[in-house]
Amino acid sequence: MAYETLIEQWRSIVEELTTNTHDAERDAELWDRRKALWNEMRDRTDASPPTCPECGAQQWAQSFGDPKVCTTCDFHPTSEHEELIAEINDYWDTVLTASSNSQPAASPT
Ligand SMILES: [Zn+2]
Repeated sequence: MAYETLIEQWRSIVEELTTNTHDAERDAELWDRRKALWNEMRDRTDASPPTCPECGAQQWAQSFGDPKVCTTCDFHPTSEHEELIAEINDYWDTVLTASSNSQPAASPT
């Protein structure tokens, strides 16, 4: 699958997840797909996420409108951890923009 296609699908799932239908089964399915797509995107970049200062894990999540959170130990970086928050944002940006570095923009899909 082309990187652009991955990102497109990922974005549309993120979009869908912002619509709350109170359908837990649908949400769980979307989250799973979102995670699988993200992992595939991440595997195509050299980027690695910053390390959690509490437990050393490298898995971060953020729900719409919520603070960032370590998915392993539930650590929430606050304003005291500005640098860490910036590093997580940088990492996410890198994954979401990696296609322009690795593929010509006009490549057929
Ligand atoms: Zn942690």
